[in-house]
Amino acid sequence: MAKVLIIGAGGVGQVVAHACAGVPEVFGEIVLASRTLAKCEAIAADVRRRTGREISLRQVDADRVPEVVELLRATKPDLVINVALPYQDLSIMDACLERGVHYLDTANYEPPDTARFEYSWQWAYRERFEKRGLMALLGSGFDPGVTNVFTAWIAKHALDELHTLDIVDVNGGDHGKPFATNFNPEINIREVTAPCRHWEEGAFRETPAMSLRSPFVCPEDVGKYTIYRMYHEELESLTRNFPHLRRAQFWMSFSENYLKHLEVLQNTGMTGIDPVPFQGMEIVPLQFLKAVLPEPSSLGGNTHGKTCIGVIARGMREGKERRVYVYNICDHQEAYRRVGSQAISYTTGVPAMIGALMMLQGEWMKPGVWNLEEFDPDPFMAALNVHGLPWTVQDPARVADPEADPAADGA
Ligand code: NDP
Repeated sequence: MAKVLIIGAGGVGQVVAHACAGVPEVFGEIVLASRTLAKCEAIAADVRRRTGREISLRQVDADRVPEVVELLRATKPDLVINVALPYQDLSIMDACLERGVHYLDTANYEPPDTARFEYSWQWAYRERFEKRGLMALLGSGFDPGVTNVFTAWIAKHALDELHTLDIVDVNGGDHGKPFATNFNPEINIREVTAPCRHWEEGAFRETPAMSLRSPFVCPEDVGKYTIYRMYHEELESLTRNFPHLRRAQFWMSFSENYLKHLEVLQNTGMTGIDPVPFQGMEIVPLQFLKAVLPEPSSLGGNTHGKTCIGVIARGMREGKERRVYVYNICDHQEAYRRVGSQAISYTTGVPAMIGALMMLQGEWMKPGVWNLEEFDPDPFMAALNVHGLPWTVQDPARVADPEADPAADGA
């Protein structure tokens, strides 16, 4: 049995704590640490109520390497699951190297002062982790995370050659608030306001944010949504690990209401990340905006509807063109009933636990710094079905990729 340290007690931390508590045969001891101890205490009380398990708690500022080193020295975990913010990735990786602890996260490092999304900083740790005999698994949420594993599964089982990828993330949920984000507002808004980049014929092409949209009909009863092409971090690792891809794109659904609010906030400067002077001090507008928006972890009880996230791939199978669509549908209220969180946190936290499971059970244990598609997808795919994120492969005859939809609309 292993000891795991979860850093970050937000919406995703809540789910990871519950998910690990649900697998006591692997996660024998759980420590939860975050900046605000009261949030850890609330999660621990909820886990105790639902599962009867005790979690140890610690306060930490994970921006400070010495504090994280001291936390690791005092708690001696086998693995850190980092579900704080992307800003803390490097400081936690540094501390893991110093104390000899395996590492996992769900989002790539971003410097606080520039919204640059790339793995370069974390991939640069590969040799150091390898030499130390330690493993770091990057991006073990849903997207990135499960979408990388879906792609690896398609490449292994469904297509002989992979030509195009369309990752489609639809959130058909309604939280009843005029404007809120389903995960950390600062990270979410930095991501959706960044210029779009997609992979085409050997290079990333940049287009203005939200400048291409398409209607998308989700399978089963999830409904029809407008999806927008945007940059997402798994495109970087997937195009590197599947170099024959001719095109790779990421799409996400947004409601008219969300986009209307976002446009006003952008036009008024509230989404800016450069500090501005205010009453004798400096504040970052986006950080102030985060402070007045609802906490994502508070949205669970009132969020209704479903998410539908999956990968549509085109390529060749036995000499013929074929399209494949692998997806998961997750119901917000069902997620709330299980772990007290809406489906965005749930679909992130459960794969973080599964990534940790893969490492601790030795299925994926390999020194170095890795993305999920670099491992055998089969045990992870099997674990998704067991741990509450079942997946489906759509009948190939019914798969329509976004761009091929006759109603596709380049705005
Ligand atoms: P929240 O804002 O709800 O939670 C973040 C938590 O991290 C809070 O408890 C916060 O503490 C804590 N934290 C922030 N800074 C520090 C610090 N310096 N030291 C210690 N703790 C800190 O975010 P979410 O739970 O929604 O998201 C967590 C992570 O998951 C993010 O990195 C996000 O990008 C990622 N994510 C990944 C997805 C995927 O599919 N791959 C999807 C959704 C999210 P405090 O309460 O004091 O602010």
